[in-house]
Amino acid sequence: MIAKIAVEKTSIRFDRLFDYAVPDHQQAQAKIGCRVSVPFGNANQYRQGVILDIKNDQPEIKLKTIAGFLDDQPILSSKMVDIVFYLVHSTFCTYYEAIRTILPAGFSYFLKKSYQFIDRLEGLENYSPHQLELLSFLRKAANQQEVDRIVQHQLESGRRADIDFLIQQQVLTPSVSSKRKLGDKTVNMVKMTDPEFDPSSCKLSQKQKKVVSFLLELGAVSIKEVCYFCGVTDIVVKNLAKQGIVTLYEQEVYRTPYEAATPTRKPELVLTPQQQEVLDGLLHQYYTNRPSVALLHGITGSGKTQVFLKLIEKMIQMGKQTILMVPEISLTPQMLQKFQLAFGSEIAVMHSSLSMGEQMDEYKRIKNGEVKIVIGTRSAVFAPLEQLGLIIMDEEGESTYKSSDMSPRYHTRDVAKYRCIQQKALLLLASATPSVESYYAAKQGVYSLYELNQRYADAQLPEVTLIDMRQEPSSLITGVSEYLAEEIARNLQQGEQSILLLNRRGYRSVLSCVDCGWVAECPHCSVGMTYHRANGYLMCHYCGYSQELPKTCPECGGSHLMLTGQGTQKIEEEVQQYFPDARVLRMDADTTFTRAALESKIQSFSKGEYDILIGTQIVAKGLDFPNVTLVGVLSADSMLFGDDFKCHEHAFSMLTQVVGRSGRGGKKGRAYIQTYNPDHPVIRQAASQDYQSFYQDEIVEREAFFYPPFCDICLVGITGRQEQQVDIGARLFLTVLKQATKGLRQNIPMKVLGRSKPYIYKMNNKYRQRIILKCRNNTAFRQLMRKVLVYTASRKECSNLHLYCDINGEIN
Ligand code: ADP
Ligand code: ZN
Ligand code: ZN
Repeated sequence: MIAKIAVEKTSIRFDRLFDYAVPDHQQAQAKIGCRVSVPFGNANQYRQGVILDIKNDQPEIKLKTIAGFLDDQPILSSKMVDIVFYLVHSTFCTYYEAIRTILPAGFSYFLKKSYQFIDRLEGLENYSPHQLELLSFLRKAANQQEVDRIVQHQLESGRRADIDFLIQQQVLTPSVSSKRKLGDKTVNMVKMTDPEFDPSSCKLSQKQKKVVSFLLELGAVSIKEVCYFCGVTDIVVKNLAKQGIVTLYEQEVYRTPYEAATPTRKPELVLTPQQQEVLDGLLHQYYTNRPSVALLHGITGSGKTQVFLKLIEKMIQMGKQTILMVPEISLTPQMLQKFQLAFGSEIAVMHSSLSMGEQMDEYKRIKNGEVKIVIGTRSAVFAPLEQLGLIIMDEEGESTYKSSDMSPRYHTRDVAKYRCIQQKALLLLASATPSVESYYAAKQGVYSLYELNQRYADAQLPEVTLIDMRQEPSSLITGVSEYLAEEIARNLQQGEQSILLLNRRGYRSVLSCVDCGWVAECPHCSVGMTYHRANGYLMCHYCGYSQELPKTCPECGGSHLMLTGQGTQKIEEEVQQYFPDARVLRMDADTTFTRAALESKIQSFSKGEYDILIGTQIVAKGLDFPNVTLVGVLSADSMLFGDDFKCHEHAFSMLTQVVGRSGRGGKKGRAYIQTYNPDHPVIRQAASQDYQSFYQDEIVEREAFFYPPFCDICLVGITGRQEQQVDIGARLFLTVLKQATKGLRQNIPMKVLGRSKPYIYKMNNKYRQRIILKCRNNTAFRQLMRKVLVYTASRKECSNLHLYCDINGEIN
């Protein structure tokens, strides 16, 4: 029997399934989806692996043998194993990267059992010599960790029978390690400063190495969890922080998912005729045409969520399960609440802000078939549901559905399609502003199309006014016209709420020198640092680096330093000064560390505890506040002129969505868009919430300039610490690609757009270059690219570089 095994810590350069022999007496235990420990490489170090296939062949060469089995039952079902293969074939990832993405964070640490040792003197005559030796080792163990280490070693070296014997003698009692309890208001968290940190690049102690490899695998974890699972004290972690290798921060604890789990008796939800028509259509499609994809284009406030509720209710009646995805963590609580009221506690939540313990618990509940609905962000698409009937992607055009900064670089929509085909389920994409690709597919008849073009209860779409900033005098609030300031005042008088949207790029406080033009930049990234009034520090939003405000210019020594730009904090202060009685709330999406705090802020605003909400992109979408009757966009212009072919789509979507936050309750809403380009078609179309005319213009342009959906875009990324090496690596890739494609053009159409530097050229001390190709994303193309990628990456010029390919990701 040969087991084909995905092994951890392989690189794309030599990744494949590795063949191992299964010992005769363990053939019953060897199942696809089980984790094993195997000797690997020349040094035969033990590594963890997962069996992905089993063959009953005679091996042609002598194989290494599996050392130990870590699971009794497969941790991956056969359906999940298929998804692993799908990810490997459709993105450019390794097998183990795919497995790690599918399983909840920390699975390999969580399933580690702990063994309690009780010394017994009776029955020793039944022990074999090895078992006696083992017993004497256990007696000498200094603490629990050492006991576990001894047992682990035995298991990994194939001596499971001896351990089983000791368990039977009640000398060892296995227990699953306990998990962190949530009681604290904030948790001290730790993460790698550089997620691609190379542990061999500096000297680390044994304990430090453990912590680093733990964090490299898990991303961000609480300090408690790190200490617990690595068996170190927090001093180890703090020392790593001093060296800048890891970053410490505080995170507010999310409300535990099941606080409000009891469904209340509520008036029966009655759909409007238009909503009912959509529901009937979707159900008909489900009954007759599975698997298939439906696109629901419904204007903001048209009741898409109500249609979801009814559809899921039907799924539950048929014994089918649903995955419902939202693009942002901050949107899960609102969604969750609506669904808990309707369906009680048979809901699981999956997103990265849950603690490792909670993620694991939720995973188990899902795997055990205890839930009917899974709500979450994009990782929810991997929820191991065996009775899947429906996947819903709300705001399907959002870029957060694309995984871009880590391998596998998949698009959630593609994985969702794969799962729906696999399980004969329905995929429902929904949005007020669908992506151009999806709408095109619907128009072509590939997806079925449903439209909701009325707001519920005759609620009117807000009246939108464009404010021409070239003409309009400014008020005392920087960046706010007099006109808008008056309207806000009017809203305050009427006791109604307002939202002000800032666009991030234009609103950062940057420190610069008046004399020589020096700008405070992060020493690790090629971006300006932002001044934070709250702590008086300059901070980098990309790597978390912070420093005190310098008193003199480091370049010329002059003392004329100036803060420019209008940070959200500055605007908040000015708004507060201008309206001293107003209760002002600021939501800063820039500082990723306080992301978790958003939920409580959203709650307070929703309860009417604030009058004005100021924020960046994060306030624009999805939220449902009935008392908001005014929305002001302070500057629409920077969105219009990006270097991404999708910038018009993003601008239209953002403006339409934020305008749609206004007037969702009974009252008439208003929206104001300040702009220096009041005649720009995208501004006009967003103002009139006219998706159709936006789409018409955009699709013509995409076709003319040959962009998706008429082709696919493949981005090749090259990063490394040496600027020159990155340059050489990028050139080499192009050369190899050119040679590989000689004469192939007919079969594999592609066009190399060339080499360029991204907007942030240096991040976390790493230089970045990219090559962009237009292509057809099919098997032949991906096979070719994989070959080119692996070949280039294996060359010695690239030994210190990281190379990757990303299809249809963000090119910014
Ligand atoms: P969308 O998701 O399309 O933006 P929502 O589903 O959030 O819209 O609906 C907007 C508002 O209208 C919500 O407050 C919702 O409760 C209400 N609503 C929509 N349809 C109905 C209905 N059939 N019955 C009761 N309330 C509804
Ligand atoms: Zn200067
Ligand atoms: Zn930085």
